[in-house]
Amino acid sequence: MEVRSGTVVSLEYVLRVDGREIDSSPEGEPVAILHGHAHVLPPGLQDALVGHFPGPFRVVVPPERAAGAHDPEKVTTVRRDDFPSDAALEVDEEFYARGKDGAVVTARITAVEGDRVTVDTNPGLAGMTLEYEGVIHHVREAAPEELDHGHAHGEGGVHH
Ligand code: ZN
Repeated sequence: MEVRSGTVVSLEYVLRVDGREIDSSPEGEPVAILHGHAHVLPPGLQDALVGHFPGPFRVVVPPERAAGAHDPEKVTTVRRDDFPSDAALEVDEEFYARGKDGAVVTARITAVEGDRVTVDTNPGLAGMTLEYEGVIHHVREAAPEELDHGHAHGEGGVHH
């Protein structure tokens, strides 16, 4: 059967951006997801799988269907003194910050130049086209209990 909301999908995947691997399912261990309720999959993949049958797949997800466009307003430059003196100020270092609306966001250092530190609070995958490749092992109808719990049971799923 084909992937749609309310099915349990067992799959392996690799996520690449510009040909560079940045995420994957654990080697040799397919993950089982309840389609429509998956929290374990990276952005955009769940929707892109709809209509696929078991077998190899390759999907390309544009930014607007994944983590969204990169917002230049979420990039700011702050002073080195604004950080605790023992903070590791290195490119790609991540930390939590409070955004303008008071919500806690993940911030990433994208540049350090002298006294100035450039910080980006966009999601890590914002603005990126995601290339997924993998194999769908099987697709089955979710059991009522799984729909009730909002996750897949059994191999690759939740055990309890
Ligand atoms: Zn359960």
